[in-house]
Amino acid sequence: MIDKHLKRWDLVGKTIDCHSHVGVALKMYGLVEYPYAETAEGIYYKQISAGVDINVVFPYTFDLYCDWKSMMKGDVAPAADPISEFPYKVENRTLMREVFDYQPRISRRFIPFVSVDPGRDVPGQLAELEKLEREYPIYGIKINPVACRTRSLELLDAGKDFLDFAAERDIPFLFHSMTIPNDIYSQASDIFKIVEERSDLRFCFAHAMLFNKHFLELAAKTPNAWVDTAALKIQVDLMNQLVAEGVVERSSLIDTDYTDHKEVMKTLCETCPDTLLWGTDSPAYSFHCRRAQGDGMVQDFSLTGAYEDEVAALKSVDREIRGRVSNANTLDFIFGKAIGEVFEFLSS
Ligand SMILES: [Zn+2]
Repeated sequence: MIDKHLKRWDLVGKTIDCHSHVGVALKMYGLVEYPYAETAEGIYYKQISAGVDINVVFPYTFDLYCDWKSMMKGDVAPAADPISEFPYKVENRTLMREVFDYQPRISRRFIPFVSVDPGRDVPGQLAELEKLEREYPIYGIKINPVACRTRSLELLDAGKDFLDFAAERDIPFLFHSMTIPNDIYSQASDIFKIVEERSDLRFCFAHAMLFNKHFLELAAKTPNAWVDTAALKIQVDLMNQLVAEGVVERSSLIDTDYTDHKEVMKTLCETCPDTLLWGTDSPAYSFHCRRAQGDGMVQDFSLTGAYEDEVAALKSVDREIRGRVSNANTLDFIFGKAIGEVFEFLSS
């Protein structure tokens, strides 16, 4: 296994965006949706403009594994002869090649995670990851259940070998997670079952679980759980829409001012001071698409945000808290709590 190119002590004091994508979304491109692509170089120039030092990056979609005709109808089905033999095989490798081989001058600005589908072709995906880790460092695993149309709980079943893979390497999982009823794949309640079952592993719930008070408070007191703020501005817009439509009860959410996502950021920092991670979801801080959510449900998203909106949320909290959510908490999530690393540093 290759050595990590960045150690914890290389990252002390840096501003880290813990959630961003590199790659393409061909279904979105084909259906005239947005955003459909991002490159490491593109993120680098966002970093420069925003004063961000490091981005955690992972693939965007696994569309190269899918049947394109059904994908264009909004379905996800493996192709008979896929371009990517296993889910994310090509996407994970392309990400690593881009970060390390094609953009070597900026590779120290990126922390690459791989993506997996917890329910399909697990032995094939694991064999690919074992090949990939001999060439490139893997810092964590991203799972987007709704993008794969695979329930997160598959990770305890068909995908359980991914849990052991992560445990052997001491790397964390970042989960796309939702608390609204119309995404059957990514329910935070299901992901919490995995978190409880594997207290030896670290897990992050993305998108602040759409501000659900019960689950945020549960995450704050669960030692192996973290929460990220990815795409905060449009998650707040979406939440206002869902409350207006009667899909979500305002009383189920943390109590804050939902007219300003920066106020929501402050309340999140108070709710999860030691476990909140700042992330932007670049390029998906804008989201215009139609997505099947399971059980015949379809959600239309028409949400517009900007990298600056996410940066503004970070800058709205005081320096000490900013240091936690964009650095100290993030490093604990990626590398584990600091003690072991400090000993390693002192003895190196
Ligand atoms: Zn994302």
